[in-house]
Amino acid sequence: MSKTHWKQMVNMDYIGAYALTDGKDLTLTIDHVVREMVTGNGGKKEQCMVLYFKERDYKPMILNRTNAKSITNLCNSPYIEDWSGHRITLYVTTTRLGGDTVECLRIRPTVAETSAPIHCENCGQIIAGVGKMSAAEFAQNTKQKFGKVLCMDCAMAEKAKAEKGGDK
Ligand SMILES: [Zn+2]
Repeated sequence: MSKTHWKQMVNMDYIGAYALTDGKDLTLTIDHVVREMVTGNGGKKEQCMVLYFKERDYKPMILNRTNAKSITNLCNSPYIEDWSGHRITLYVTTTRLGGDTVECLRIRPTVAETSAPIHCENCGQIIAGVGKMSAAEFAQNTKQKFGKVLCMDCAMAEKAKAEKGGDK
């Protein structure tokens, strides 16, 4: 189990190293990028580039220059409009911040192989991994349990329905 620096926990409105289970790579799909006001540690407000994922279970990511350049290379385009729909693989590494070594998120130069997006057969949302389960494992799991590939939301709904039915 990788350790989490308390500083990574402060801004929970955005994805950080804490979101990667056991420090494992996480592949997500870009939805869109916007400029927005971000309230950082200590209440300081700052205009940041923020990337939203199609996997709605995951918080948006504040993009620094390093990561914006990685995406530019991955997508062969510096234009944020061209990034939508692209998959990116996040990993945890460390960086120096004010004399401390802190964990940070970076983007791999290539997308992890097993990263073809899997869609929910019910609502069409792209399925994200949950806890220790990868998206593929989660999909397989729901297929076995419910007979179709489901996202987290739909799987919960199906489960609730099944439990209600079982009460009769
Ligand atoms: Zn669904």
